Amino acid sequence: MAGNDKELSWRLVPSTCVYCGTGCGVLLEVTGDRLTGTLPQKDHPVSRGALCIKGWSVHEFVHSPRRLTKPMIRKDGELVETDWDTALQAAADGLAGARDGYGPDSVGFFASARCTNEENYLLQKLARVAVGTNNVDHCARL
Ligand code: SF4
Repeated sequence: MAGNDKELSWRLVPSTCVYCGTGCGVLLEVTGDRLTGTLPQKDHPVSRGALCIKGWSVHEFVHSPRRLTKPMIRKDGELVETDWDTALQAAADGLAGARDGYGPDSVGFFASARCTNEENYLLQKLARVAVGTNNVDHCARL
């Protein structure tokens, strides 16, 4: 387009819906540097061109203004921004305190559909190896 040197690129990126264990095939619409839509993969062996309503909106959480992008810690009942070292130390202290005070099974871990398989794998390792509990579940089952 004449006079418009900021013309946006558009492309489709094949991926997998993260909302449940079915693993439907999606095509993520990328406009410029943003996810702008989701289409079904018609040749996907699992979903064969179908998506449920969650799958059609799978791109929406990525740029949500409500998404947490910085570490937070609760002080005097209010969530306030902090640095990663402080937040991670507070989480580690809280988990260790619960485990030591009430036993490993006083702690439960809930994995997220918005994390990768590898991140969820690491979460269950943290639960089983570091804390010593098998209390692990996933939001897709809740
Ligand atoms: S589209 Fe629906 S059924 Fe398919 S993986 Fe996503 S949430 Fe599950």
